Amino acid sequence: MDKTKTIAEIRRLSLLYASGKPPANSKYRNERKKRAKQSRRISYAAYIVSDRWKAFRLRILKKRGNKCEECAARTGLEVHHLTYERLGHEKASDVKVLCGFHHSLVDEKHMRKSGYAFLAGD
Ligand SMILES: [Zn+2]
Ligand SMILES: [Zn+2]
Repeated sequence: MDKTKTIAEIRRLSLLYASGKPPANSKYRNERKKRAKQSRRISYAAYIVSDRWKAFRLRILKKRGNKCEECAARTGLEVHHLTYERLGHEKASDVKVLCGFHHSLVDEKHMRKSGYAFLAGD
């Protein structure tokens, strides 16, 4: 391997990192992405058991008439996130009231896309 070339390459990479714009598909970038995903998952798990979420959940259930928005079932209702973009300060339109059956249907798709683990009551 050409030593000068290697040094130049290292310099190029360190400049990129310093600028906050790591090269696409670099190890650094993947590592950052992974860490961001992890911390999001942790705060999500904490949030879903918080009083804030519980209060919001109850408000939504009441507002939507305490029934599944897909089949109008009235038991085993859960509030599902259509988006996690505003996690912790959701708009009413960010969530949907679903029965256990319909929740498991949408969450299966959802989980595959987002990488979020399924938690009851989300
Ligand atoms: Zn349903
Ligand atoms: Zn869900």
